[in-house]
Amino acid sequence: MARHGGRGWYGQVAAAALGVTGVAVAASLWTAQAGPVDTRSGAGTSAHRTAPKAAPVSVEIAHASDQGARGVNITIDDGPDPVWTPQVLQVLKEYGVKATFCMIGPQAEAHPDLVKAVVAAGHRLCDHTVSHDVTMDKKSEAYQSQQILDAERMITKASGGVRPLYYRAPGGAFTPYSRKLAASHGMRPLGWNVDSKDFERPGTEAVVATVKDEMSNGPTVLFHDAGGDRSETVAALREVLPWLKEQGYSFGFPVR
Ligand SMILES: [Zn+2]
Repeated sequence: MARHGGRGWYGQVAAAALGVTGVAVAASLWTAQAGPVDTRSGAGTSAHRTAPKAAPVSVEIAHASDQGARGVNITIDDGPDPVWTPQVLQVLKEYGVKATFCMIGPQAEAHPDLVKAVVAAGHRLCDHTVSHDVTMDKKSEAYQSQQILDAERMITKASGGVRPLYYRAPGGAFTPYSRKLAASHGMRPLGWNVDSKDFERPGTEAVVATVKDEMSNGPTVLFHDAGGDRSETVAALREVLPWLKEQGYSFGFPVR
């Protein structure tokens, strides 16, 4: 039953996403028209073929919330997934919560409708690499670069031009190099303070209890919308989000 409800909602978001696509098309037409102006001002021709580079951000791993001391950042990793992402989006919508979605590049490429739905609902995008290699901190810089920048391109293309604003290393396997590279592309390295442990499926109440017990660790909370049956995640969010509100937390985004 829940999935049928989700589908009805999903149709509305898909329609909204078409509007986003329209904006992206208009923007690229504008860029094409602006081309000759750039040439006269001396800009290289390659600038016409690539999107303007994002402004660099700090290389330090972010944990804080833009809502301050009583802020909380909900982060949703490893998607998008055609079954679970719409259900997570539905719960977030019900409680008026904006979250940060750390996406795997090829999954974003396979489900651009979901990426557009995430953006259309006001959530933020985060680059979670191509292959989710939790040992990438032991690999070459060339490999790390490919993992991060290919995923950035896949996510940005799938979103219709909306860039990921953060980079979260799989399993937290950051390196000084990967943090610097991501930051130079406008993606703030993003950590977490509270691992809900939802990925291990310990039962909905255990996930809820972990979040409640560990909120004193800091504002950034980790959940997952892919990688297996995420029904516990969806159920846990239904309990955690209103509880956080009752505790006086404000939902925000990680600082950049
Ligand atoms: Zn992950």
